Amino acid sequence: MTAHEMRWNLHDIVPKGRFEGLFKKAGTGIERLKSSIDKYSPGMTGQAFRREMEFNEELMEDLSRLSGYCSLWEATDLKSQDAKLLRSRTDNLFVKYSDAVIPIHHWLRGLPAGDRPALDDGNARRLFASFPDLSYVLGHMRSLAVHSLAPGEERIMSRKRVSGTGALSDLYDVLTDGFQYRFRPKGRRPQTLNSQEPLRKHFYSARPSEREAAYRALFEPYGRNLTALFLIYQAIVKDWVSDSQLRKHPSPVSMRNVHNQVPDAAIGTLLKATEDNAGLFQEFFRLKAGLMKLKRLRRYDILAPLEEVKKTVPLDRARRLVTDTFRSFSPGFAEKAERVFKAGHIDTHPRPGKRSGAFCSNVTPKILPYVLLNYTGNSSSVSTMAHELGHAIHDICSSGHTISAAGTTLPLAETASTIAEIIVFERMLETARSAREKRALLMEKMVDAYSTIVRQAYIVKFELEAHRRMGGGVKADDLCQCYLGLLRSHFGSAVEVADEFRLEWAYIPHIFHTPFYCYAYSFGDLLALALYSRYRSQGSAFVPKIERILSYGSSKSPDDILKEVGIDMADRKFWQGSFDILRGWLDQLRKLG
Ligand SMILES: [Zn+2]
Repeated sequence: MTAHEMRWNLHDIVPKGRFEGLFKKAGTGIERLKSSIDKYSPGMTGQAFRREMEFNEELMEDLSRLSGYCSLWEATDLKSQDAKLLRSRTDNLFVKYSDAVIPIHHWLRGLPAGDRPALDDGNARRLFASFPDLSYVLGHMRSLAVHSLAPGEERIMSRKRVSGTGALSDLYDVLTDGFQYRFRPKGRRPQTLNSQEPLRKHFYSARPSEREAAYRALFEPYGRNLTALFLIYQAIVKDWVSDSQLRKHPSPVSMRNVHNQVPDAAIGTLLKATEDNAGLFQEFFRLKAGLMKLKRLRRYDILAPLEEVKKTVPLDRARRLVTDTFRSFSPGFAEKAERVFKAGHIDTHPRPGKRSGAFCSNVTPKILPYVLLNYTGNSSSVSTMAHELGHAIHDICSSGHTISAAGTTLPLAETASTIAEIIVFERMLETARSAREKRALLMEKMVDAYSTIVRQAYIVKFELEAHRRMGGGVKADDLCQCYLGLLRSHFGSAVEVADEFRLEWAYIPHIFHTPFYCYAYSFGDLLALALYSRYRSQGSAFVPKIERILSYGSSKSPDDILKEVGIDMADRKFWQGSFDILRGWLDQLRKLG
C-alpha cells in the first residue's frame, strides 16, 4: 500500500458472516409484501397504513444493504467472481421486489389494482398524512398518475419498449462501440484505434496538429454511418414525442422535467440565462487564445493545456486542506467529512482491479456513506476529493429521513458537492505559490465550467429543436446544420468551428439514451454557484440556510425547499449570481496576464 492509502471496510453494511441471514430475511419480507396488498383499502386506519409503509421501508433498507455491499465490493475488486455471484443473486431479489410492489404503487396512485376499490383523493390525503416523512414522496408519486395510461396500455408500453427504443438504444451502443478510428497526426505514422479513450487523450495534447487529428479521427466513422445514426435518433425522438403526447405532457421536455421535479419555467429561465451569458465564455476563449499566442482559438484547442504545472499533494495534506477549508465554511461540514475518514468508509488510491473515477455511495441513511477515489495528488484529484466528500456531507445531513425520503432529488443532487469543490478551489487559489500555478487552476476551472454549463445547455437546445422539427420531417443534414449553427452561435467570433463538428450531436450518447438529461449538469452546477454567490454576499449567515436545504433529502419538492430559503428557480436574477462568480474568476485570470 502507498503511504496514507486507505481502504474501506464494508462490514458496517453487512457484518461478517451475516450476508446469507440478511438475504433470507429480505426474501421472506418480499413474500410478506406480496400478500400485503390485501391489507390496503381506502378506509384503512392511518395506523395500519403507517405500519405497512414502515414494513416496506425496512425491507428497502435490507435490500439496499445487500446490493450496496456487493456493488461496493465489486468496485474495488472488479474481477471477483464471488462478488459477481452475490450481486446477481441480489439482482434477482430486486426483480421479485419490484413485482411485489407494483400493485401497491398502482393502488397508491389511485389506479385500479385487481379488484380493490381505488384510493380516492380524500383518503389518500388522510393516509399519507399518517406518515409525514413520506407524505411528499407519496403525493408526488400520486400526482404522476395523470400521466399514466390504463394498466393494460402501460403493460403494452413497457413490453414494446424492450423491442423498440430499448433495442434502438442498444443498437446505437453496438454500432458506435464497433467504430475504428484512423488517427493521422501530421508527420507521424497513422494509427488505427479501437476505442475512443486513447483518442480523447489527444484532445489535451500540447501539439495543435495532434488535437486536430484526434477530432477528425473521432468524427470520421460518425460521418460514414450518419444515415444509420440518424435513423436511430429519428425513431427515438419520434417515440419520445408521441409518448409525451399520449401521457398528456404540454411539451416533450416537460416529460423529463416532471420526472426531475423541476418546473418547466425554471428550465426555460436556465437556458435563457446561459444563452445571455455565452459572451462571458467567448471572452475567456479570446483570453486563452492570447495566452496561447494564437490569433483565434479553434474548437480543437479548447481543452489544450496552457502550460504544465507539476505539483503533487500527498493524501494526508489534501485531507487537511479539504477539511480545514470545510471548517472555515461550516464546522458541521468538516466534522461530517472527518467522520467518513475515521470510520474507514473511504477507498483512496488507484490499484489494479479497482474501478476508475470517483463516487459517493449512500447505501441507507442509517449507514455513514462510502466514498471511492482514485487519488493521484494532482489538483483535479484534490477537487474530486472535495466533491465526493460534499456528497457524503449531503447524505449525512439528510440521514434523519426514512430511506425513501432521504435520497436527494436530481436538481439538488450536486449542491453540496459543487459548493465543496468551489470553496476548496478558492482556497487552493489563495494559497497557490506562483502566478503560473494560479493561472493553471483558473484555466482548468473555466474550461470545466464551459463544459458543464454552456456545452450541456446547448446540447439541450439542440434536442429541443430536433424534437420540435422531427414531426415535420427533417433530413440528417438538417440536424447537422442545426447543431453546427448552435455551436457557432454560442462561440460567436471567439472560436473557429470546423465543419466536421456538425457531426458531434451523433457522438453524444445521452441524447439517444436519456433525452433532455444533459440540462441536469448545467442545472446542478449553476444552482450551486448561485447559492455560493449568496453565501459570498450574506456571509456565514447563509450557511444554516444551505444546511437546511441539504437536510430535506427528497421529503419536499426542490421548488418548495428553495422557496423556503427565499429562492425562486424561475427567477432570472437568481441564476445571474452564478455567472457573476464565473465573471470574477475570469477577471482574476485576466489580471494575471
Ligand atoms: Zn457529483
